[in-house]
Amino acid sequence: MESCLANGRAIVAQAKTQVFEDIFRFFTEQLANGVIHPGDRLLSERELAQALDVSRPSLREAMRALALLGLIDIRPGQGTYVRNPDATVLREFFSVMLVLQPNMYQSALVTREAIECQAIRIACRAARPQDIQRLRDALDRITETAPDPEKGADADFAFHRTLVEASHDEVMLFVYDALQPLLRRDHAVRRQAIKDRPEVQNVMPLAHKLVLDALIAGDEEAADAELRRHIQIPQGYEELVENGERQSSRVRAPG
Ligand SMILES: [Zn+2]
Repeated sequence: MESCLANGRAIVAQAKTQVFEDIFRFFTEQLANGVIHPGDRLLSERELAQALDVSRPSLREAMRALALLGLIDIRPGQGTYVRNPDATVLREFFSVMLVLQPNMYQSALVTREAIECQAIRIACRAARPQDIQRLRDALDRITETAPDPEKGADADFAFHRTLVEASHDEVMLFVYDALQPLLRRDHAVRRQAIKDRPEVQNVMPLAHKLVLDALIAGDEEAADAELRRHIQIPQGYEELVENGERQSSRVRAPG
């Protein structure tokens, strides 16, 4: 009886999810196709339920979820209005979803590399002087915080996010920010791994400086290659240290 009831609940929950997905898809398609716009008033609940061929309670529930996502504004007695989507809210949901999914960590790192390497290529052409200055500041911060695993991880994340920002590609930045909790965790793990290795800490700024130098030179191939090498660092610590010793005169924070 219990399993029968539980099963029944699961079926009802699945049906509700399907209704929500259908309504969500319908709504986003209407937005994407320019049929509805932020500020528009939607059809009444009765008309909408009829048009979508769903029950009014199901529709009401889905609309509440859309309101929670910040996509619509339900004004009692006035109607339901399309809102200007709040990217921050949607990104937070996306972000939580990624964190909760199992096995997303490795996938997030692959996506990170794809986004950053494409972003730096675009930044080679699109970066503005203020972006370069912000990257120089971020590099200074990496140099200052090298021995501190926590602050070092924050500084490292900030440098890489600034790189993505320098592409001025909003969608890449949006996805990158959604990955933020996973990426921060990765930076923290990497910094913990070298907390007792000052010889590696000392060359961390160099790896970032080489990336920044290539970006400033507008050399897409070199920037992509330096960044990819740096992102794959755990396998390359020894090479990094060796490289750093050879170029120790260049390890100084940039002026
Ligand atoms: Zn880094």
